[in-house]
Amino acid sequence: MIEFENLAQANRPFFEQYKESFAETMERGWFILGENVRHFEQEFARYCGVPHCTGVASGLDALILALRALDFPPGNEVLVPSNTYIATILAVLHAGLKPILVEPDITTYNIDPRRIEDAVGPKTCAIMLVHLYGKSCDMDPILKLAHRRGLKVVEDCAQAHGAKYKGRRVGGFGDFGAFSFYPTKNLGALGDGGAVASNDPRLDAMIGKLRNYGSDRKYYNELIGVNSRLDELQAGFLSIKLTRLDEINAHKRKLAQIYLDGLKEDFIKPAVSADCFDVYYIFNIRHSRRDALREYLLGHEVKTEIHYPVPPHRQKAMQGVFDKNSFPLSEEIHATTLSLPISYAHSEDDIHRVVEIMNKF
Ligand SMILES: *Cc1c(COP(=O)(O)O)cnc(C)c1O
Repeated sequence: MIEFENLAQANRPFFEQYKESFAETMERGWFILGENVRHFEQEFARYCGVPHCTGVASGLDALILALRALDFPPGNEVLVPSNTYIATILAVLHAGLKPILVEPDITTYNIDPRRIEDAVGPKTCAIMLVHLYGKSCDMDPILKLAHRRGLKVVEDCAQAHGAKYKGRRVGGFGDFGAFSFYPTKNLGALGDGGAVASNDPRLDAMIGKLRNYGSDRKYYNELIGVNSRLDELQAGFLSIKLTRLDEINAHKRKLAQIYLDGLKEDFIKPAVSADCFDVYYIFNIRHSRRDALREYLLGHEVKTEIHYPVPPHRQKAMQGVFDKNSFPLSEEIHATTLSLPISYAHSEDDIHRVVEIMNKF
């Protein structure tokens, strides 16, 4: 069986270092907001090419706190892609704002810069874009438009650690870059975790307070904060994995190339462009008989996933949230997309095998 994901296997190369880090943290006896978190924040900021980074408890919290730090009037509108993981939209709602869905470019699956302008209204305050599946959005036109219309930009980088646009890593293009370290992500912890990257020391300080009961000085509370802290154990593991993130991404890119070169043209493959250095959090293809293809692959011992089976506007939780409910491109993607195995634990032979089986479908 070729698994879709095996997290024990994918983390095995780091086990010995993780055990040392675990023992050190245990001995130190300091488990929340200590030197591991500070060290990781510095290293991850450096990696992303930004001056500031603050660790938080999850990717969802990173998105919520980024919006809260920008301090928009309640009920203002945030533009989000119509095809994203539900967390992006939940973050807007939890921040007391209104999500407005914008359809994607059908070739990149990322928010379509040409459609953003039409969605901007008098109450629009921000664009929350998602670098989906590990491919950067087309940042130049988005940043230009945001600047012209006075909109803030938050990047949901949960699927794009290390992805680049025109040679620059994502996370520092907008006002905030929000990251998740959920175990399956390219930079995954052994539990939950997240971080917010930014270029602005004042905004970064806001995140630092918001994540810790509104306080950066014990027992003095300046903001209505929450408890959303990255913990010392996870930060220790993440610092270790971060030193190997480029290697993880390179491995996934090598596997992606095997799919890109080998899969027959019946499958719609991910777009590749000179502007984008993709890190393939997911390698998706599209096919009109997706469900039959998935069954066929399972019959040949290849496990796949669907990211995602139900579009956000069709989720039960989202009933009544959106003014309009017709998002044909998002529907088309959700109905046809299939995610193939592509992890640090997979070998090139595994992928050649999947290609061989796929091409007989
Ligand atoms: C994983 C993910 C999140 C949420 O991250 P958590 O750490 O699970 O809260 C947000 N947005 C996108 C696009 C994701 O893939």
